[in-house]
Amino acid sequence: MIIDCHGHYTTAPKALEDWRSAQIAGIADASRKLPASQLKISDDELRETIEGNQLRQMKERGIDLTIFSPRASFMAHHIGDYAVSAEWASICNQLCYRVSKLFPDHFIGAAMLPQSPGVDPKTCIAELDTCVQDYGFVGINLNPDPSGGHWTSPPLTDRTWYPIYERMVELDIPAMVHVSTSCNPCFHTTGAHYINADTTAFMQLIEGDLFKDFPTLRFIIPHGGGAAPYHWGRYRGLAQALKKPPLREHLLNNVFFDTCVYHQPGIDLLMKVVPTQNILFASEMIGAVRGIDPETGHNFDDTRRYVEATDKLTAEGRRDIFEGNARRVFPRLDKALKARGR
Ligand SMILES: [Zn+2]
Repeated sequence: MIIDCHGHYTTAPKALEDWRSAQIAGIADASRKLPASQLKISDDELRETIEGNQLRQMKERGIDLTIFSPRASFMAHHIGDYAVSAEWASICNQLCYRVSKLFPDHFIGAAMLPQSPGVDPKTCIAELDTCVQDYGFVGINLNPDPSGGHWTSPPLTDRTWYPIYERMVELDIPAMVHVSTSCNPCFHTTGAHYINADTTAFMQLIEGDLFKDFPTLRFIIPHGGGAAPYHWGRYRGLAQALKKPPLREHLLNNVFFDTCVYHQPGIDLLMKVVPTQNILFASEMIGAVRGIDPETGHNFDDTRRYVEATDKLTAEGRRDIFEGNARRVFPRLDKALKARGR
């Protein structure tokens, strides 16, 4: 099997965006707000947006299943207060749940959390529980910077995040560390803010001792781990200077990287530097980079090609990256697949 651990519902019907616009307008002018019940999207509309987009490309690329979460840049946790985020997260998660019910062989959910800047992360637990226990979701996306590029939250190793980690451990689910849109013009959302956040999260984890408190907690750092693999020597050296154990011991029982790296040399480097057991296949299509690479003639985000072509993997290692590691890091996914005889 080939499991893509990083996909978002970037192609949701326009009605979703319209509802969100009304919700945002309603923050300043309550008369413009629409109740959630006013958002009407039929199963046929959901089918159409999936069949012609993600599912079509998955079939073309030979990807069997995608772990599917709400559109990351639309999470926009910085907008409004907790109530705004709670209603928005609930709506977006329900849509991903419906997609997973319509296409159970191809999609399984991961949750967006109703985070809000300055609000206690434990307020996210009710939605997290609904998604995992009622919708069968197998993971969550955790935003280390709900302020949208201003970094007003404490590092991921701070105890204020612990209620979420405690619940993750109880439910045996991992989190993908995933920021949302940048409202700071210094940081382009997908070109700078995402990659900065991946790198920042990795360094926060080096500085702390989070996995002493949570030995089974698991994070996926997306987009190939930001700058971390490329600068592995820097991070090994900083860990040493900070009197931390070697990275393998300090982080690599708990931290994983995906393969959302959009060229062959980048994937080759990732495979060479990071242990195979810490890499999960992902493409994040249809996402940040949708074009065709004129140097190869293929989509930049057709990452299966790079993983197949790299000479840094054994056949067994390749299978682990495509399937085995995802089953290990997402035990609820493994269980759901086995229940369906896969
Ligand atoms: Zn993403």
